[in-house]
Amino acid sequence: MGPRPLVTVVGGGLAGVEAAWAAATRGAQALLYEMRPGQRTPAHQTGDLAELVCSNSLKSARLTNAAGLLKAEMARLGSVLLPIARECAVPAGEALAVDPPLFASTVTDRVHQHPEITVIRQEVTEVPEETPVVLATGPLTSDSLANSLAETTGTGLLRFFDAVAPTVTLESIDQSQAFRASRRNRSMEDAAPAAVQVEDYINCPMSREEYDAFLAALLEAEQARPHLPEEASTPFFEACIPVEELARRGPRTLAYGPLRPVGLTDPRTGRRPHAVVQLRQQDRAGTLWGLVGFQTRLRWPDQKRVFRMIPGLQQAEFVRYGVMHRNTYLCSPEALLPTCELRARPGIFVAGQLTGVEGYVESAAIGILAGLNAVRLASGRTPVIPPPETVLGSLCRYLTETDPKVFAPMNANYAILPELSPRVADKRARAQAHADRSLAALGAWMKEERLDGSDS
Ligand SMILES: Cc1cc2nc3c(=O)[nH]c(=O)nc-3n(C[C@H](O)[C@H](O)[C@H](O)COP(=O)(O)OP(=O)(O)OC[C@H]3O[C@@H](n4cnc5c(N)ncnc54)[C@H](O)[C@@H]3O)c2cc1C
Repeated sequence: MGPRPLVTVVGGGLAGVEAAWAAATRGAQALLYEMRPGQRTPAHQTGDLAELVCSNSLKSARLTNAAGLLKAEMARLGSVLLPIARECAVPAGEALAVDPPLFASTVTDRVHQHPEITVIRQEVTEVPEETPVVLATGPLTSDSLANSLAETTGTGLLRFFDAVAPTVTLESIDQSQAFRASRRNRSMEDAAPAAVQVEDYINCPMSREEYDAFLAALLEAEQARPHLPEEASTPFFEACIPVEELARRGPRTLAYGPLRPVGLTDPRTGRRPHAVVQLRQQDRAGTLWGLVGFQTRLRWPDQKRVFRMIPGLQQAEFVRYGVMHRNTYLCSPEALLPTCELRARPGIFVAGQLTGVEGYVESAAIGILAGLNAVRLASGRTPVIPPPETVLGSLCRYLTETDPKVFAPMNANYAILPELSPRVADKRARAQAHADRSLAALGAWMKEERLDGSDS
């Protein structure tokens, strides 16, 4: 047996710990760089690895929930964080929630005890030359490394602020109240057959009364508390003003702005509506739709309540709420391969929130994949891509196949998974069918790629 290949992991958060563990348990020697406690971030409080910066919830533990299914996939791939989370769990109904300091200190001890992981407390200021490397420095990546990464990937591929509108599933939109049309095109119904083309937007028309009621609710809705103190004073880009802020500028501002009905005729009435909320496709499969111009800082329960007043969205299922916060992440459709490798620099893997996934569990899951691919590359094997039927595989596909123009960070949800065939109407049965299909595909893939412990 030759010497163990070396894998360098930068960032000892959720993704970095999983990546180092995945590499070390698959035959590599892992060097894990973490800049805390010597160098702090605006959110972390301690020097512990895998510190949870805000909520203590790792979301649902149920297999019939997309985040729960992702956890089941991670467990099969040898996650180190999930067993520790269960050791440090606090009562939280169907969710897996932890005691954060206990969780982080237990993770830190466990990592330090691993004979093949060396933790180095040092900021990495440039993308390392030696590969393989896993970059897992998270939403608060230090400035110098962020600059170096931006140089490596090419102009404009690293983003520093997340201002996204809510995303809903196509199947939860009541199409009988909406119509498809683009402002610049004629509506489907008007077009001559030869000119018929796929219309880009789903339009939710509003009467004057509906608009007034919506505006009143929007003005009364409550703002979320900023995650970081600096976010409260961050000036808005004029093109990216929160929808509630626009509403405060005057009763007609929205109707002349993102909700303007110009160029849109409701085919059911033959008239131009008083106002129109437009939804734009977010993924290639057309299952996810984002509310155009609805970037917002409202609390999530208020978003659900107020945005469900929009005709056609009364039953909308929100896979992602609007947020506006500091977040360093790559435009992965342009920057990444589905193996988590940088297109511009093979051998440099990226993991965690830096890839454009959102959330503790999603970040950790991508960490496992990046770690195991790094060790495969180091030992002369080809990096792998999880099957699309799995939540992990679907996240990779979302990251790398979404139209870069509409790419926004994403968390685990069923809408990014391929449709079941045949379709299952009942929601609970459908979730179970997704779980069965995912775990079967994962098992077969792990066997084929020898990822079941025999890959080291
Ligand atoms: C303020 C805030 C609140 C959030 N609240 C939630 C929440 O409630 N729930 C949720 O699911 N998600 C939340 N998130 C998102 C959350 O950060 C991610 O879900 C998760 O922590 C990402 O994991 P990660 O490993 O990618 O990054 P992190 O967990 O942030 O880990 C990155 C690590 O890299 C280190 N690092 C950075 N730069 C360098 C460098 N140059 N050299 C060496 N080390 C470096 C950092 O110190 C950090 O330890 C929040 C994010 C922020 C910023």
